Amino acid sequence: MDAEKHDREFETLTRFVSVFCRDHHGTDGRTVCPECTDLLSYARSRLDKCPNDPKPKCKDCKTHCYRPQYRQRVKKVMRYSGMHFVKRGRIDWLVKYFM
Ligand code: SF4
Ligand SMILES: [Zn+2]
Repeated sequence: MDAEKHDREFETLTRFVSVFCRDHHGTDGRTVCPECTDLLSYARSRLDKCPNDPKPKCKDCKTHCYRPQYRQRVKKVMRYSGMHFVKRGRIDWLVKYFM
């Protein structure tokens, strides 16, 4: 397991969730609301238990381990914040990630 890679992936997800939370849940862009904290905790636990080594991008994973409700939530975040970062020229973060 590449712990450093997992940490980087989680850091990127946290950025995406923070933008989504700021624009949908009225937070300040640095902290996230309880609902988004729950989503991040779930994603971290999935990442830590990922059986794949090397780990593929989750969107390419054949044994997707997310419960459907969480998968939908992450997809929604990625769609929204993905557009946010594309508009700001941060395509590098998109390439690294995810759903
Ligand atoms: S979706 Fe696949 S790659 Fe992503 S954490 Fe779950 S098992 Fe690992
Ligand atoms: Zn939130």
